[in-house]
Amino acid sequence: MDMAIPGHIDPVPVPRRITPREDGRSDLMGLMRQDIGALLVSAGLDAKQAKLRSKQLFHWIYHRGVTDFDSMTDIAKQMRPWLEERFVIGRPQIVEAQVSSDGTRKWLLRTDDAQEYEMVFIPDADRGTLCISSQVGCTLNCRFCYTGTMRLVRNLTPGEIVGQVMLARDALGEWPKGAMDQLDDEEDAASYTADGRLLTNIVMMGMGEPLYNFDNVRDALKVVMDGDGLALSKRRITLSTSGVVPLMARCGEEIGVNLAVSLHAVTKEVRDEIVPINRKYGLEELLQACADYPGASNARRITFEYVMLKDKNDSDDDARELVRLIKGYGLPAKVNLIPFNPWPGAIYECSDPEQIKRFSNIVFEGGISAPVRTPRGRDIMAACGQLKSASEKKTRAELDRLAEEKQAALG
Ligand code: SAH
Ligand code: SF4
Repeated sequence: MDMAIPGHIDPVPVPRRITPREDGRSDLMGLMRQDIGALLVSAGLDAKQAKLRSKQLFHWIYHRGVTDFDSMTDIAKQMRPWLEERFVIGRPQIVEAQVSSDGTRKWLLRTDDAQEYEMVFIPDADRGTLCISSQVGCTLNCRFCYTGTMRLVRNLTPGEIVGQVMLARDALGEWPKGAMDQLDDEEDAASYTADGRLLTNIVMMGMGEPLYNFDNVRDALKVVMDGDGLALSKRRITLSTSGVVPLMARCGEEIGVNLAVSLHAVTKEVRDEIVPINRKYGLEELLQACADYPGASNARRITFEYVMLKDKNDSDDDARELVRLIKGYGLPAKVNLIPFNPWPGAIYECSDPEQIKRFSNIVFEGGISAPVRTPRGRDIMAACGQLKSASEKKTRAELDRLAEEKQAALG
């Protein structure tokens, strides 16, 4: 008999757009030009001023990585303290930074309301990939995933999502140098592409299910892709989903990034067990949604992630069935075989390397590319599926008690 899988499969709505700050100022991080403009208007600027200033602010914040208003040389000197009084340009706080023996870096981050989440940077010879989180915890309980043992604490805001990219650029020292007015804008934009930069790609593969925080993830990625700011191309961004079928089309239409799907099994029985969202959106529906994904083509294939679990999903027959399914739906797809990364209390083992190789060969002979991923950052628990933080969802009663204590402490 199957063991019952604890936890809920349905998304728990935890609406949150902005994390309130104790000092009462508004954090501009993660906001688009028009949102910055609206804040300026509500602080008293007229519409025309607000529009101009929001454009300047956007450029300083996301293109230059500036965090203090006083460095914004094209904004009038007397206006800078006015901004400073009302706004901040925030970053997530760093609780801990670790470096793996293979160069992978992991940061434990904290939000303004003290929730903790993780972010990972994976340097390679020809690229540098930042793996960012979309939620603190996860509603889903994929049985091979460490994050899945946490409950969902809350969604990350657009600011907390974009903030990860900003922080990585800070840490890598990758902001354009020099005064803005000394640079020819076009030349500057060109130097801001992949060439010579460490951070070239982003994957939404950290903690959480990004499609269960759709609006915030979309708004964050819009900021990240904006040509006036961080300017990362949608071709260099990949969003990974466990299979939230109803939102996949919107992901293609409204965000337009590459799609990765955590498939991990080819039969209903096994996928129901290891990726429980399968009980809600089954394999056929999922593969049909992949076939319909806007923008997928042979040049832009969908990636299927497949974690290799010993004696669970790694047989030769599984490999052949995988080929049959992908071909049956006519999918432009590639498969990433991920050796299972262990974590404390996990009930699975990684498949034998020979079996992974056999599996890869069978899929490859079926005409589908199926490279075996080299695990990165295992020694610091930074590899796929190893992210977890100490944040816990509090009950209403606990929250009330904490609020009372805080009140009492404030006297
Ligand atoms: N929630 C999204 C994003 C997380 S991406 C999703 O599930 O797709 C992280 C990838 O690592 C997913 O494909 C996930 O299934 C996989 N993964 C989770 N735990 C793992 C583990 N212990 N070893 C290897 N891969 C794992
Ligand atoms: Fe959540 Fe993805 Fe982990 Fe599944 S694999 S529990 S969806 S983070």
